[in-house]
Amino acid sequence: MSRPYNFSAGPGALPEAVLERAAAEMTNYAGSGMSVMEMSHRGKEFLKIAEEAEADLRDLMGIPANYKVLFLQGGAMLQFSAVPLNLAADGDAVDYLSTGYWSDRAVTEAKRFCQVSVVASGEAGKYTEIPARDQWKTYKEAEYFHYCANETIHGVEFHDVPDVGAVPLVCDMSSTILSRPVDVSKFGLIYAGAQKNIGPAGLTVVIVRDDLLDRARKNIPYLLSYKTMAENGSMANTPPTYAWYMAGLVFKWVKEQGGLAAMAERNRAKSSLLYKVIDESGFYSNPVKPECRSWMNVPFVLADSKLEKPFLEEAKAAGLLTLAGHRSVGGMRASLYNAMPIEGVEALTQFMLDFARRHG
Ligand SMILES: *Cc1c(COP(=O)(O)O)cnc(C)c1O
Repeated sequence: MSRPYNFSAGPGALPEAVLERAAAEMTNYAGSGMSVMEMSHRGKEFLKIAEEAEADLRDLMGIPANYKVLFLQGGAMLQFSAVPLNLAADGDAVDYLSTGYWSDRAVTEAKRFCQVSVVASGEAGKYTEIPARDQWKTYKEAEYFHYCANETIHGVEFHDVPDVGAVPLVCDMSSTILSRPVDVSKFGLIYAGAQKNIGPAGLTVVIVRDDLLDRARKNIPYLLSYKTMAENGSMANTPPTYAWYMAGLVFKWVKEQGGLAAMAERNRAKSSLLYKVIDESGFYSNPVKPECRSWMNVPFVLADSKLEKPFLEEAKAAGLLTLAGHRSVGGMRASLYNAMPIEGVEALTQFMLDFARRHG
């Protein structure tokens, strides 16, 4: 029997081909007699895995040579602390855009270390839209400008890269990295927890422009320093070796699929199919303004919240897993990361139409 479709927001589904390859290599990687989990991170087998993963990611995203790529632990949330500690001094002014749950968590953390200015907030509109550019109160001397490219919980996504002039642009790309092409040269720093669209939990990817490495505070914890990690090939201590290996398999898979342009085409098609069914149903609804709806995470509610429990139960029985919304907002959420095939979204929309017919 084929596997059910998993709509989890994170850790999310991985490509089946990647899981199968990892399974085949589990106990004896490439004739080494060891699992990747059992290898020294300084041995030649693992160093090759690590280098190939970085080269493939650089190739996929077109990362310019003056950027370092770091493979770190701690999750995206540790970057909420690492970014201000590396890029700004105590009391320095930094700009943050508030578009939902995750960018607000980043604001809360940065306030512990810097003078944070929230340039605009979508809170009044319950995070259903990105505040209009002409409303942003940006500061041209800010040390950096932070935003979240895709709000995983609220389902709000940027479909372009904001222009903030010469201020280094810092982006939480956890739930949208690799879903479409992106011009890395527009950013000072990009970070992403792996467990949405890259691989298993436990790995965080940071892409940082060279000239920003010298800004860190003197008393920054050794392992939080981007410069330390860059100088040590992300191996200032033991890196998350297995997650790094899995990420490498995913990068190869994405390349085989045709790279980020092919991913973008699929992701646009998958999400538009789902939004169309939601909008035309009169039974389901999504509150986000069409121009900033996420391709990756589609939250929706049912006409009658009492139907949520049967919806989830029947969906599960139909092989459609993990559709409950985040505990902070309720409702439903379908996450459509790269590993979700169009067939999964077709199965979901068929189920939704059928459920609406029976309960509407
Ligand atoms: C999941 C997520 C986080 C938190 O990631 P952790 O790895 O759990 O720290 C932060 N930002 C965004 C956009 C996310 O989707």
